[in-house]
Amino acid sequence: MKVFKFGGASVKTAKAVRNVKSILDEYCDEDLFVVVSAMGKTTNAMENIVSALYDRDYKQFCLLVEDRKAFHLDIMHELFEDFSHPIFDEVASIFQTLIDQKEERLVENYDFQYDQIVSLGELLSTKIIAAYLSLHRNDICWKDARSFIRTDNHYRNAEIDWAKTHTLIDSELNSNRSKVLITQGFIGHTEEGFTTTLGREGSDFTAGIIAYCTNAESVTIWKDVPGMLNADPKWFENTVKLDKISFREAIELAYYGASVIHPKTIKPLQNKNIPLFIKSFLSPQSEGTIIQHSTENDELVPSFIFKINQVLLSITPKDFSFVVEENLSQIFKKLSLAGGHINVMQNSAVSFSVCLDIDNFGLNKLIDLLSDEYDVKYNDNLELVTIRHYDQKTIERVTRNREILMEQKTRQTVRIVMRNLEKD
Ligand code: ASP
Ligand code: MG
Repeated sequence: MKVFKFGGASVKTAKAVRNVKSILDEYCDEDLFVVVSAMGKTTNAMENIVSALYDRDYKQFCLLVEDRKAFHLDIMHELFEDFSHPIFDEVASIFQTLIDQKEERLVENYDFQYDQIVSLGELLSTKIIAAYLSLHRNDICWKDARSFIRTDNHYRNAEIDWAKTHTLIDSELNSNRSKVLITQGFIGHTEEGFTTTLGREGSDFTAGIIAYCTNAESVTIWKDVPGMLNADPKWFENTVKLDKISFREAIELAYYGASVIHPKTIKPLQNKNIPLFIKSFLSPQSEGTIIQHSTENDELVPSFIFKINQVLLSITPKDFSFVVEENLSQIFKKLSLAGGHINVMQNSAVSFSVCLDIDNFGLNKLIDLLSDEYDVKYNDNLELVTIRHYDQKTIERVTRNREILMEQKTRQTVRIVMRNLEKD
């Protein structure tokens, strides 16, 4: 069996949904497990719906729900000639349940309620798509991912119960003979039967989980880019597609911030040696990128990962003591309390420097937490560039008109924290 994953952009219009159908038709001889995200920007819209509900801004809440309903109905009106098709009632009833939320007592646990509501995006998209495909084929079966993706109850960022999920998927497949299974990415279920989500952009991970548990032949993530590029075209000119890279390299790139695949997706595939294809849904015949076990092509092309809005903190004990393990563990605890994400760190005898993703609120909190015992200095508005398989030329290319504040090199990777002098 092959696992396919279609993201929001690949199903954002009726035309896009028809394109998904034509891609699936190309593979009509294959058994497919197809994972689909919410349509277009529906997850963002659902997030706004939850916040309006919790702000008790019912006017805004109703507006947003109506807007999402109209968005889905527009797509359905283009896909279905027969407006009395049962899918119209099904979709209407999902929106009715959502609207009724404003009459209910607010659940105290925001994250719990977030998952119950935001997950509707994936339910809607998969129901509509499965119904549409079934107009044309009789080998389509809609599956509720919550009947086989079992998680803990860490709402909005649930952990997979791998053993249970494995058993549930096995029995799901044993009881089903359809060639094409359509299911939701991003969502799961607790033992008690509540819906959970796996973290934003988690649909790729769902595809990885299903492939792992079914020993799939391959996974294909269909995207609006030709494959995995060596840099984000938003920041770099002349990007190059990586034709073939190793699981290890893909994990490294995702870790440093390359945003093509959800970082958790690759490990389960690596463990079972299941190749991952990243292909363009706009040009399905093109080669795309293959992520597989062999490392022999990893060094052919240098990759660049660029992050902005970085904060570089330098933390020095006030009593001139050395920075040792006790201080460090205390500093890490405070960093995590303030919600900082560490990108690069360096320490000397008397100071510890760390480059962070952190918002203003977190930064102030952190300085507050540290200032009793430490002198804290910081530079903000910095850039961080990571180059895999660097050489002097690539370093010069990215540091032009930049002041370098910190640099860290290993054999394969260089990371440079810098200030853009063009901006000042
Ligand atoms: N729809 C979810 C999101 O936008 C999951 C995904 O697309 O992967 O975060
Ligand atoms: Mg999405």
